[in-house]
Amino acid sequence: MERNPSRSMVVTLVAGLLCSAVAGEAGQTVPSPEHGAPPLPPSVRLYVLDCGTLHIADLGRFQLKKEEVATSDLSVACFLITHPKGTLIWDTGAVPDPAWKPTGTAVTHHVVLPDSQERDVTMVKPLMAQLAEVGYSPADITYLALSHYHYDHTANANEFAGATWLVRQAERDAMFAERPLGVTQPSTYAALRDSKTLILQSEEHDVFGDGTVVIKAALGHTPGHQVLYVQLAKTGSVVLSGDLYHYPEERALDRVPTFEFNQEQTRVSRVALDAFLKKTGAQLWIQHDFRANAQLKKAPDYYE
Ligand SMILES: [Zn+2]
Repeated sequence: MERNPSRSMVVTLVAGLLCSAVAGEAGQTVPSPEHGAPPLPPSVRLYVLDCGTLHIADLGRFQLKKEEVATSDLSVACFLITHPKGTLIWDTGAVPDPAWKPTGTAVTHHVVLPDSQERDVTMVKPLMAQLAEVGYSPADITYLALSHYHYDHTANANEFAGATWLVRQAERDAMFAERPLGVTQPSTYAALRDSKTLILQSEEHDVFGDGTVVIKAALGHTPGHQVLYVQLAKTGSVVLSGDLYHYPEERALDRVPTFEFNQEQTRVSRVALDAFLKKTGAQLWIQHDFRANAQLKKAPDYYE
């Protein structure tokens, strides 16, 4: 994996955080001596968190027809990555925890966006409750990264304003523009304006400095859209797609949504990622792929 210039900066950031928890011998974790933070694992773990099911009425936006897809529903997935040197949250859902009341069974929440677009999202469990079940609170999170700034990825972003935010300049600029473009809910990420922020300048950003967790630019869906490569000792490598694709049929049928920031850039990013997948043998996990997501084990279980 290519080293990038900001790595030394990350190492400096991480060094301080290392004091809060210590990885033990292989196969064991050592509880942190300070402020009750949970232990960090001896090797990388990937937790899949259920952030709801998004019901899509208009497949035309994806240049698809109803008869071309297995289901029009999209999963909304959030991810927690724990590493011997810290933790990373990747995407934060479509509905903020405080905006709905869990009942123990599925609750369908109606989302109205600032531009009057409306969506229905079925929710089962709040994100914070899922994190707590794994043993973490937002205060324990070292890094926050969003694949991009659309509303169905930012819902609980404010909760992680205390983490170091990993973002590209073009994305951050778009998020805090006077009128952000696209399906956005700026109030859900407003607190990130004051977060400790690391602007990612190179194509790849090695989050923990050992090549196991790497944010890769995949521009097009939004100006600074990104995907996440995670190398797992037992599972092998996976790439979390962000919204480079939503439906697996977009990939199979070579369709690009109509609402991309730059459709041509999306095509270039897809070709580049295909080459990367071929080179590394990594699996592609399309985050919104409802049927694939249904097969994944969910937190508190994890991939390692
Ligand atoms: Zn999305």
